[in-house]
Amino acid sequence: MAEILDGKAVSDFFKQEIAKEVLAITAAGNRAPHLVAILVGNDGGSKTYVEAKKKACKLVGFEGTVLYFPDTISQDELLAKVNEINDDPNIDGLIVQLPLPKHINENAVTQTIVPEKDVDGFHDINMGKLAKGDNSGYTSATPLGITMLLKYYGIETAGKHAVVIGRSNIVGRPMSILLSNSSETGNATVTLTHSRTQNLKDITLQADIIVAAIGQPNFVSADMVKPGAIVIDVGITRLDDSSKKAGWRLAGDVDFAAVEKIAGKITPVPGGVGPMTVIGLLYNTLQARKRQL
Ligand code: NAD
Repeated sequence: MAEILDGKAVSDFFKQEIAKEVLAITAAGNRAPHLVAILVGNDGGSKTYVEAKKKACKLVGFEGTVLYFPDTISQDELLAKVNEINDDPNIDGLIVQLPLPKHINENAVTQTIVPEKDVDGFHDINMGKLAKGDNSGYTSATPLGITMLLKYYGIETAGKHAVVIGRSNIVGRPMSILLSNSSETGNATVTLTHSRTQNLKDITLQADIIVAAIGQPNFVSADMVKPGAIVIDVGITRLDDSSKKAGWRLAGDVDFAAVEKIAGKITPVPGGVGPMTVIGLLYNTLQARKRQL
């Protein structure tokens, strides 16, 4: 049976580490880091994510603010709000929860956040720095959190074959770059696969490390995994489940029950990558504050 990579426990460890750094900042007479999240509309999932981020801020001693706007807000109004926050010296990090309503161009919004406050790492400058292995920017929180998890467990990536499934700009592509960069949690030989990849199973069977970021429950089956491989499941999909109080449950992209019997190490859903994403965000916000001091 695979060892469970316990994102929840590891995130608790990192929260304590971050809280210590916040104490040192405030003990020196400086204000605590301040993260602002913008939520447009009423999507239940997005609200849950944003509230979890705010709660995590509080736990580590950050100031966390959520600004709610109706989905009737115009793009210009939203951009004006972003610019106001860009100019506010008391705010270190800004995230705009995606997806946004259809009449708002997500790229226009993410590119308006100044790179220095773009703690989600979506700005072209931060993506460019990531691609060049320049650590002065911000890396998308989910891939960053995954590398922190790998590091915590002492998982060697150098020289390993890592197969990333999914090429989104927020997970798959930055993950593939981080794993291939010349760094402590990089130096892997990376194959980035996607919806047009042929013979995916032949490729994943060669993987020492699989990162699944597709958004299709149980997509990665046991026959796609080499014995002993490390399996990181990024997927989060809500599935109807009348046996649950909420009427739904979360499912990952990996058939956990079957793959757990073959893999060497595996992340569960929930309790794997999700909590580490929050840590990635907190880490970036702490960096943003420290870079101002
Ligand atoms: P996305 O929809 O932007 O990208 C999905 C990717 O999967 C695409 O690049 C596509 O090419 C690839 N894909 C689709 N079908 C495929 C197939 N048959 N074979 C190979 N590749 C295929 O999604 P995303 O934003 O990257 O998110 C992926 C999943 O991760 C979602 O379930 C999302 O909810 C979840 N997610 C979780 C966290 C977290 O904190 N755990 C953070 C972000 C996203």
